[in-house]
Amino acid sequence: MNVQNVQHVASRPSWDCTAGCGPWPCTTAQRDLRAQYVGDRIGLGWHVGRLVADAIEDLGPTVVADMWDRLVTWIRPRRRPAERGPSDA
Ligand SMILES: [Zn+2]
Repeated sequence: MNVQNVQHVASRPSWDCTAGCGPWPCTTAQRDLRAQYVGDRIGLGWHVGRLVADAIEDLGPTVVADMWDRLVTWIRPRRRPAERGPSDA
């Protein structure tokens, strides 16, 4: 198998990476999604929001917090410490 052709997509209903990376989105999937939505953070947010809904449909409502952390938190921009405000402490 050609490594460059490996797709890093979610295997449903487990929501593990089809390439064997573990929980999806793996770092490769995150990179691919960022590239797909470059300059469109709102579009990326809508996309992962739909993924959370799909994951809850597959796994049930008890996974909401875990899937939110797994599917949504990585899209937030990383800020350097100097950019943090008093409310970020
Ligand atoms: Zn992967």
